[in-house]
Amino acid sequence: MATEAGAVGATRTPPEAERPCSKQPLPTFEELTIDQARGRACIACGEPIRPGAVYRGPIVGYDGGLTLDADVYACGPAGGVR
Ligand SMILES: [Zn+2]
Repeated sequence: MATEAGAVGATRTPPEAERPCSKQPLPTFEELTIDQARGRACIACGEPIRPGAVYRGPIVGYDGGLTLDADVYACGPAGGVR
């Protein structure tokens, strides 16, 4: 009789959709919307930033010879998590 079931499996990584915005991987600079690049929208869900947002930036990008950086935010644990 094997009784291993139940001893493991509690540490699986949840898929990205189940993670809070603050744990989502950062997008690239090119993927940012204007509002996201200006720190006015969550970089994960695109919702307007609310109090408690988590600072995730800066994201650095290049445009020709210019170096651009965007200070980005994601919903905080108390804000955008459903
Ligand atoms: Zn969000």
